[in-house]
Amino acid sequence: MKSHAKVVVIGGGVVGCSVLFHLARHGWTDVVLLERDELTSGSTWHAAGGMHTINGDPKVAKLQKYTISLYKEIEELSGQATGVHLTGGVLLAATEARLDWLRGVVSKGRYLGIDLEVISAKEAAELMPLIDPSQFVGAVRNKEDGHLDPSGVTHAYAKAARKLGAEVERFTKVEDIVRRSDGLWRVITNKGEVVTEHVVNAGGLWAREVGRMVGLELPVLAMEHMYLITEDMPEVADWNAKTGTEIIHAVDFDGELYLRQERGGMLMGTYEKANKVWSEFQTPWNFGHELLEPDIDRIAPSLEVGFRHFPAFQKTGIKQIINGPFTFAPDGNPLVGPVRGLPGFWVACGVMAGFSQGGGVGLALSNWMIEGDPGADIWAMDVARYGDWATMAYTNAKVRENYSRRFSIRFPNEELPAGRQLKTTPVYDTLAAQGAQWGVSYGLEVPLWYAPDGVKDEFSWRRSSDFDHVGKEVAAVRNGVGLSEISNFAKYRVTGEGAAAWLDRMLACKLPRRGRMTLTPMLKDDGRLIGDFTLANIDDREWFIAGSGVAEQYHMRWFEAHLPKDGSVRVEALGQKLTGLAIAGPKAREVLAKVTRADVSNAAFPFMAVARMDIGMAPCQVGRVSYTGDLGYEIWVAPEYQRAAYQALVTAGEEFGIGLFGSRALNALRLEKNYGSWAREYRPIYGPVEAGLDRFVAYGKDADFIGKEAALAERRQGGKLRLRSFIVDATDADVIGDEAIWHDGVVRGWVTSGGYAHNSKKSVAMGYVPKEIADRPDGFEIEILGKRHAARVQAAPLFDANFERMRA
Ligand SMILES: Cc1cc2nc3c(=O)[nH]c(=O)nc-3n(C[C@H](O)[C@H](O)[C@H](O)COP(=O)(O)OP(=O)(O)OC[C@H]3O[C@@H](n4cnc5c(N)ncnc54)[C@H](O)[C@@H]3O)c2cc1C
Repeated sequence: MKSHAKVVVIGGGVVGCSVLFHLARHGWTDVVLLERDELTSGSTWHAAGGMHTINGDPKVAKLQKYTISLYKEIEELSGQATGVHLTGGVLLAATEARLDWLRGVVSKGRYLGIDLEVISAKEAAELMPLIDPSQFVGAVRNKEDGHLDPSGVTHAYAKAARKLGAEVERFTKVEDIVRRSDGLWRVITNKGEVVTEHVVNAGGLWAREVGRMVGLELPVLAMEHMYLITEDMPEVADWNAKTGTEIIHAVDFDGELYLRQERGGMLMGTYEKANKVWSEFQTPWNFGHELLEPDIDRIAPSLEVGFRHFPAFQKTGIKQIINGPFTFAPDGNPLVGPVRGLPGFWVACGVMAGFSQGGGVGLALSNWMIEGDPGADIWAMDVARYGDWATMAYTNAKVRENYSRRFSIRFPNEELPAGRQLKTTPVYDTLAAQGAQWGVSYGLEVPLWYAPDGVKDEFSWRRSSDFDHVGKEVAAVRNGVGLSEISNFAKYRVTGEGAAAWLDRMLACKLPRRGRMTLTPMLKDDGRLIGDFTLANIDDREWFIAGSGVAEQYHMRWFEAHLPKDGSVRVEALGQKLTGLAIAGPKAREVLAKVTRADVSNAAFPFMAVARMDIGMAPCQVGRVSYTGDLGYEIWVAPEYQRAAYQALVTAGEEFGIGLFGSRALNALRLEKNYGSWAREYRPIYGPVEAGLDRFVAYGKDADFIGKEAALAERRQGGKLRLRSFIVDATDADVIGDEAIWHDGVVRGWVTSGGYAHNSKKSVAMGYVPKEIADRPDGFEIEILGKRHAARVQAAPLFDANFERMRA
């Protein structure tokens, strides 16, 4: 074994081998993979080998498509058979709600280049002869489904990597990982030590244990999973003989089952409701090529449905039941990327569908390590989407929920119960008493809307029980004054003698004067967005940044990686050490004036001013800005004072009819201002010109801000895309996000978010289209639930286009 390497990959499952291959293919050949046993000795060897392109997140779906397209290449490179059978498959719907969901999947597939087609249940049964069509209302055909040999694929990656110069050391167990003072890592094994610049944790079933070696508690947990293999079935033999083809894959969402042919019989697997965690706290090191005890009672309810939906199973015997463990992150997507605070330590774990996702994970991680950027939008897989709130018990609750709901529909207005009421703010009970209906953002309970007694969300793809009530919250803001809680923003304090110079380099804006705020994009080296913030200059020594709450860890990782080593700048994520309230609407100033002695007149405290002031008895920081696009104020307050500030504002607002509003009303309000937000409209694949944020970029400022050259090039060339707001002729359902945008009968773009703008009484969608067509007056259509609706670009905001309200 070599004593030095540029990269050590820990784990020889499908994921580690894919990472190794991608690093070597990308030109880093001084790389070694350490496997404590034979390759495939974790989850990999007993996988069912299914692969598919469908994923709830379209960006992950794209990487799944890449994974599937890779198998031919690694087979040719390695000379190792991968056993790929691209059979195609059907995704079955037993209910109309499920079919609506599938229509959304088809719509996403259109701009991802995934060839999907809605078909009838009868047509599905013609393609997959074991189906009882009377049990289904429709289906979707996917030509890119199939299965493969898990061991063959893993060895093909490893062999191809070796041919490119990478090394694989089997029976080499990593026992400890120590960071040296010079920043290199010592990877200590049972066979000696390797010193390396980069460590990749692809430990699969042992990813937690490998993480613990560097003090990291990763939110992953293994679940037991069962599939059965039947005896040979005459129906299968008949079909094979008649058509000369295999029986295609099927996913029966309502039965929570997946099926494929296995030799002369069938394989049927299930994500059962009564699921079971495996090795809750610690994965045993002596677990290897073993299976777990099958428990047919646990999967019996799913099998009963399966036998009804696929009657041929009633007449056949079960040859074998496989029960094996594999890992999940709380939301079921992988954990990939660099770990904040551990330079050179990377993770590629929690991959629950290694044969659909392993290639994409390897590609993204190798790009990230070599180029400094994953090269794709992998937010849904980024390890930084979790913070310290994703504890072991939280992970346990969410993983069990996610497993049991793997094939369940999640409606756009549906909030899931597990792991809830973990982080709450001091006004939680007060708002709950007012009927707050809660969502969750980065672990924090967030009011979505306020329901009268006896009313709650009815889960639906269409406008639902909240519609009129959200409309009333919107009206309270636009006609008088509304109050909302905004603690879910991420808040950062930047201090130190080098703070201003550092911010000037990190952020693309012109720095605001003392007592002023500005909106600012933050760019990566390639000139694309990595953040959008409000920056406030409190007193030239202290700076305050507010940004997307879900990206706190993501942005802290970026900030910290760029801090000067001399300690001249300090960045602190304030989390819930600072809570927030906002008031907005034409009466907002009158409310504020009643609760503070500060002069908040327009002359003294204009748009984008920021100052410390007391609200009632509570010391606060107030900024005159509002995401509602109205006259409004964001109020930042330490949690111990939040209730007092809230009470003061509510009491003062009584005479103006102050109303509470939640994040759904805020969405309706920002849509009619064409305001985008991080993780929806603004993501690391778009440039500021494309995203319409170029007006906040100080291209001419002296400071050499990160991404400046590339941003100037984008401005010269104009980028490829444009973010646009559309008014959609929708009737009873609005866009959710990720729908296809058509132009002149061809899919040309995708929706990023949208909804109903109650004040303007318009259904609004925001999304990206090629710049060549972005300003066409007509020809657009947006697909909602499988139906195309006429849409028009709305260039000027529907509300307050001349900023009269906001700046008044
Ligand atoms: C019953 C079942 C059916 C499945 N069906 C499918 C399917 O149809 N399609 C699909 O895509 N996925 C399926 N999966 C999931 C799939 O198996 C996993 O997604 C995949 O195997 C994860 O691979 P991995 O490389 O991340 O982890 P693992 O396979 O667990 O590999 C981790 C490797 O790291 C090694 N390792 C850990 N710690 C150390 C250390 N300290 N030193 C050295 N080596 C170490 C281990 O020995 C192991 O070989 C199934 C899983 C099960 C259990």
